[in-house]
Amino acid sequence: MSLYRDEGIVLRTHKLGEADRIVTVLTRRTGKIRGVAKGVRRTMSRFGGRLEPFTHVDLQLHTGRTLDVITQAETIRPYGEALVADYPRYTAGTAMLETAERLIMAEKEPALRQFLLLVGGLRTLGSGEHEARLVLDAYFLRSLAVAGYAPALEACARCKATSVRAFAIVAGGVVCGSCRPPGAAVPAGETLALMAALLKGDWTAADASEGRHRNECSGLVAAYLQWHLEHGIRSLRHVEREYVERELAT
Ligand SMILES: [Zn+2]
Repeated sequence: MSLYRDEGIVLRTHKLGEADRIVTVLTRRTGKIRGVAKGVRRTMSRFGGRLEPFTHVDLQLHTGRTLDVITQAETIRPYGEALVADYPRYTAGTAMLETAERLIMAEKEPALRQFLLLVGGLRTLGSGEHEARLVLDAYFLRSLAVAGYAPALEACARCKATSVRAFAIVAGGVVCGSCRPPGAAVPAGETLALMAALLKGDWTAADASEGRHRNECSGLVAAYLQWHLEHGIRSLRHVEREYVERELAT
């Protein structure tokens, strides 16, 4: 068995047997890993509350035959503390962790940009500087872009024409009048500008946006993300799905 160290964000945990837990972590160097924390559910566990979702931890692990074994865990930063008291921020954070876990499918394949995006997203979310759904949509758009699924926002996703009319999830973003599939959503120009600002990290423009454009943006981004993940994210059930449903129904 070989020993290694890495730091990462705990994405989720689940029970294993009587006292153990399997902990899924997005690490800086190793990518997504699943490790066993032994005895973690006993009250006197040496890991304490460190291996909880949202926590940025420094880990030492043994490489195991199937799952690695976590032998040490130290807290670097408990991002969850800033989120638990605020329901919109907590649900946004939960959706970020679920999205990271599902977008990064392979284990032990380095995913440094995804790690940095998640750390940055959780830090911004906890700071309270921007509305939670804007932070969440920025995270979704950027993590999709890193995964290779950035939506086209300026020129038609199919023919590159610059006079765009609609947003078609199946086509990969905005589309012109001739490429527009029936049923594609026709968002306001300001909504598309908000999506572009969130993708670029232009917070001055994003913070100045109006509520109705934020609503439309969240609906489109959630529908676009779900399409790419192929099946729904539990935390997003409350977000409107009408865009995808409308497209698929036609
Ligand atoms: Zn076109």
